[in-house]
Amino acid sequence: MAIDNKFRDRPSSSRHSKELWQWLWKLQVPPKVQICVWKMLQRALPVKVALFQRKAVPDPICERCGEDVETIEHALWDCPWSSFFCRASPLRLDPALTYPTASLTDLTIEVAKIKEEEVSSLFVMLLWVNWYARNMRTFQGKDITHAECFQLASKNLLEYHACKDGMVKIPTPHTVAHWQHPREGVFKINSDASIMKGEGSSIGVVIRAHNGDVTKALARKYNQAFAVDIMEAIACHEGLKLAKELQLEHVEAGTDCQLLVHSFINTHTNLTYLGGVIDDIRKLMTFFRSFSLRYIPRSANVMAHLLARFAFSNLNNNMYSGFFPSELTHLLPEDERIA
Ligand SMILES: [Zn+2]
Repeated sequence: MAIDNKFRDRPSSSRHSKELWQWLWKLQVPPKVQICVWKMLQRALPVKVALFQRKAVPDPICERCGEDVETIEHALWDCPWSSFFCRASPLRLDPALTYPTASLTDLTIEVAKIKEEEVSSLFVMLLWVNWYARNMRTFQGKDITHAECFQLASKNLLEYHACKDGMVKIPTPHTVAHWQHPREGVFKINSDASIMKGEGSSIGVVIRAHNGDVTKALARKYNQAFAVDIMEAIACHEGLKLAKELQLEHVEAGTDCQLLVHSFINTHTNLTYLGGVIDDIRKLMTFFRSFSLRYIPRSANVMAHLLARFAFSNLNNNMYSGFFPSELTHLLPEDERIA
């Protein structure tokens, strides 16, 4: 990112402060992040140097590197851990090298001047998660990796957007949706994932034609388990791969994972592994003449769910791919039933 060279010697005026607060409170990020960054900008963070001045700690030395006095700027980018964190982040920041004398306020003003919500949101999320990692190290002795930090920032941002946009709704208990037939010529891909503690994870995929006939089913067990939303994305991706192999032209994908659908439709940068799988889904969807990915309630996704569970019981093989496991055939009309 480009940062104006002139700002290095410029003191932050109160005019800047007012604009800065307006910028901060308008950002589409979780309030806890705004409050944390507001404290940072007010220089009200309990960094070691502040605590030392108040005689609350015996020394002002950074707990992460043990090499330097922990000021706000040291904690956020001068410390080797943070310096690497900034450079490895999607913003590719390198304030320690480029602007060694810049204050946090100076740097934030420069970011705000870019006038891109996505950059600004990411910037404050990175500040927040860096401070979170610092606290985990200082108070709990826990080291959080850079990758885990990016994942945490992205997850928090995604969940905030999902809640705000009303994607996370409490299901209405009296309406149970059922599997809907697609239009003629369109194939419906239902996918689901399952995680069993200590046993790994699994996915289930079923592709059906407009009349409900099964075109192909897949059940696969994995010895390792990712987070459930990632497994749901992998299930969806496997479904699309199958549809591509079958040379289907018009497909509708359905998942009961709201986070997956939300991540798929929104354009916010997704730094997590989930983001990578979603990119793969986007690449695959270009092979179809028409494609949609929609959220469907669990009651309309029963067969995919059963296939995912079946993967655990299908001990001979970690993978089933065929027309449908005979053990489950009698259950097929299950998600077509109207409750
Ligand atoms: Zn340090």
